[in-house]
This record gives sequence, C-alpha cells and structure tokens, in this order.
Amino acid sequence: MKPTHKECTKCHEVKLLDLYPKAPQNRDGHGGTCKVCIAAYQLRQRRKRTVRPKAISEDNKNFFRLGVMEGERRVHELEKALAILQTAIKALMEVIREADKAEAGSKAF
Ligand SMILES: [Zn+2]
Repeated sequence: MKPTHKECTKCHEVKLLDLYPKAPQNRDGHGGTCKVCIAAYQLRQRRKRTVRPKAISEDNKNFFRLGVMEGERRVHELEKALAILQTAIKALMEVIREADKAEAGSKAF
C-alpha cells in the first residue's frame, strides 16, 4: 500500500502527501518539506529581499540629503559671491559711466 502521509522535514508534522510539492525524483513523488513550510520560507525570503533595498534606499536618502545640504551650502556661498560681484560690477559701471562722461566732456571741448 502506498503511503498517503509523511512527516515534514521542517515542521515534523505528519501531513497528507498532497500537502507536499510534487517531486518525481522522490520515491513517493513528493518533496520532503510541506507546502506550508515552503510558503513560510518563501515569505521570509521575500521579506529579506524587501528589507535590503529599503536599507539601500535609506542610505541613498542620506547621501541625497547630504548632497542637498552640500548643494545648499554651495548655493549660499555662490549667492554671497554673486552679491559681492554685483556690487563690484555696479562700482565698475559707475567708474565706466564717469569715464564716459569725462570722455564725452573732453570731446565736447
Ligand atoms: Zn512543514
């Protein structure tokens, strides 16, 4: 008589052969681990897989945040430099305008 039940190698519960995945290479035609244990294992693996990318994306977020902070710092520095340049340009324009005025005046004479 063919066995209808067997013990799972994981949970050691005696279950119906139908509750084991088909494995033609096995004597009884079914794998040694029950479907429940396989499902639980696969769920654990899936959770592991979803945890890893999360950890990576958290690192990426931190890198991104650092990048933004660094970027903001540089923008602030650039704005300061730009303000200084604008003041310098204004002063230069003033000098040029004065020189033009002087030249125009000298031409007029
Ligand atoms: Zn099991």
